[in-house]
Amino acid sequence: METQNCHNCQHSFEGNFCNHCGQRNIGNNRLRIREVVNDFFDNTFNLHKGFFFTFWKLIVSPGKVAHAYIKGQRKRFTNPTRYLVIALAFQAFMDYWFKTDEILEKDEYFYFPFLSERLNNSMELWNIKLTIEFSLLSSLFEVLLFPIIFYVLFRSLKLNFTELLTTNFYYISTSTLITMTILFVTKVLFDVFVSIEFIALLLLIYVSWAYLSFFKTTPLWIRSLKIGVGIAFFLIMRVFVLPFTLSLLNPLT
Ligand SMILES: [Zn+2]
Repeated sequence: METQNCHNCQHSFEGNFCNHCGQRNIGNNRLRIREVVNDFFDNTFNLHKGFFFTFWKLIVSPGKVAHAYIKGQRKRFTNPTRYLVIALAFQAFMDYWFKTDEILEKDEYFYFPFLSERLNNSMELWNIKLTIEFSLLSSLFEVLLFPIIFYVLFRSLKLNFTELLTTNFYYISTSTLITMTILFVTKVLFDVFVSIEFIALLLLIYVSWAYLSFFKTTPLWIRSLKIGVGIAFFLIMRVFVLPFTLSLLNPLT
């Protein structure tokens, strides 16, 4: 095998990849359009093999994907942070293109009879604001809250916070990708928006399924109970505590 000098890091190497920086040997050739296109997909999205494979595996066996990544199979699936960025970009595109706020404004928010009319109105407005204007912040809330809850509920499994966080990157992104795809398809084919209840239900079903599959070493009934408690806690925080606190700090009318 011939020795080459890597044009990226000046290290000499043999074979298909530079053993110092990992650049492929074709990086030493003159630029050709095929390389530029391949490089774009590989570095930016890793779409041509990794992304759809990862998405599919996260639907059929979500526990396996997260555990493989945690246990060190870092190249087998799309990196969780990259996967999250793709999902958020897709969500931003959908929000921009299809004006998903139209579905929200038609929707009735929860009414809490023990709170004043003004507070209820303000909470409804905050909910719309959170979902539309601060959609990235709302996603961040989902991304961070689940690992915190499950860190506490499943601390006997000795998973660290980063492991639960990257797992949740996969699951929140997959639930976003599933609902956005359904929104996209129904809008394009039938020109209808599916209801927000349907979307919320789908999200809950996926997140439950993903975590049931992830915590599989815990006996089923304890696992189901803890995941149920975790999701209930999340919903109370997102539907009540967060808009309530924001309404107290800064009431909207
Ligand atoms: Zn190199």
